[in-house]
Amino acid sequence: MIYKRSSALFAEAQKVIPGGVNSPVRAFKAVGGDPIFVKKAKGAYLYDEDDNTLIDYINSWGPMILGHAFEPVVSAVVEKAKKGTSFGMPTEIETKIAELAVKMVPNIDMIRFVNSGTEACMSAVRLARGYTGRDKIIKFAGCYHGHSDSFLIQAGSGAVTFGAPNSPGVTEGTAKDTLLASYNDLENVAEIITNNKNEIACIIIEPVAGNMGCIPPQKNFLQGLRTLCNDNNILLIFDEVMTGFRLAAGGVQELYDIKADIVTYGKVIGGGLPVGAFAARKEIMRHLAPLGPVYQAGTLSGNPLAMAAGLAMLTHLDENPDVFKSLNKKTAYLHNGLSDVLTTQNVPHTINREGSMISVHFSETPVVDFKTAANAANNGKFNIFFHSMLSQGIYIAPSAYETWFLCDALTYEDLDKTIEAAAVAAKSL
Ligand SMILES: *Cc1c(COP(=O)(O)O)cnc(C)c1O
Repeated sequence: MIYKRSSALFAEAQKVIPGGVNSPVRAFKAVGGDPIFVKKAKGAYLYDEDDNTLIDYINSWGPMILGHAFEPVVSAVVEKAKKGTSFGMPTEIETKIAELAVKMVPNIDMIRFVNSGTEACMSAVRLARGYTGRDKIIKFAGCYHGHSDSFLIQAGSGAVTFGAPNSPGVTEGTAKDTLLASYNDLENVAEIITNNKNEIACIIIEPVAGNMGCIPPQKNFLQGLRTLCNDNNILLIFDEVMTGFRLAAGGVQELYDIKADIVTYGKVIGGGLPVGAFAARKEIMRHLAPLGPVYQAGTLSGNPLAMAAGLAMLTHLDENPDVFKSLNKKTAYLHNGLSDVLTTQNVPHTINREGSMISVHFSETPVVDFKTAANAANNGKFNIFFHSMLSQGIYIAPSAYETWFLCDALTYEDLDKTIEAAAVAAKSL
């Protein structure tokens, strides 16, 4: 494939945008080469500026669960735009999507819409601190909760890929309130709680981790966290920005039958427009302004175009619950196919999967936390695999720490092509 125009556009972009990208994970820094500039997309396919067609396994990093330019979402946005794009006043559609989200998700009474997953997580932690009157939070190494200061402590994917796990600009004062735990290690969490008695406001976690590759929680891990939180008056925050409305209509809360105290959303909930949200039971949400003292606001929050896209997306998922089954089946098929070709070529690998999230780690040891993910990522094999797949028209995330996201527009023929490409890529490893 030729990327002449993409490279030229990238050169232009670098003159006026730092690194040529508006979010670092889009750059190909970890894998080498220039990022590809996309012209348009439809369904499972990307069409780039050089008119190459790519099968897309990033899907805008998760939102496009039904594929690109999904007709009901597009027409909802177009119709809304004609009536004005922002008012800074309440609109009926905000209540409609809130009602639908509250219906689809277990254990939440109220939801507040913001503009990104970062904002959702940042606000959720502020709410937890305001509610409990405590300062400290526990996060897990390798989990990403957006780029707000408290979270840039071993933050997975982007932050790890770029070698700045503790970003300059984050003050020591902020960092000291973030306690770092090891994913899937309940004893570690219990010890941290014991050492910080009555000081911890919340535990925030990706209940199925997706920012160090895909790492599902081991048996009883989430239940163990729930019990520790109950016993110590700590709020449990599920960051479902990636998993919400993707792994099930009710996200990981439904899938694993565990109740979180606050849940954050992003990605799928916005149907491809900038939307985040956080939700909880009434007794927690009523601490939020204007009902309560915990401040949180946004000029464009609940933006009509964003709400129209989100409502069209959630409505489709609500009315077609088989989407999740179909996605699981497709991802399992891909899992088996990839596993077969890598085994045939004697490539050591571990494939992690939960629903339509999947990641290939080039190591035989189980990948269960950040340490094991980093060990598997550090052998250079991923970069060779990535470039081979790309040259065959398969677009996976340009980092060993990222999950692949499937969309339901993928056909079994697309999956077969992907598996065949992986067989070719495996030969070069
Ligand atoms: C993407 C992501 C975020 C951040 O969302 P943005 O919309 O990029 O700010 C937070 N948490 C998780 C789990 C994510 O995957």
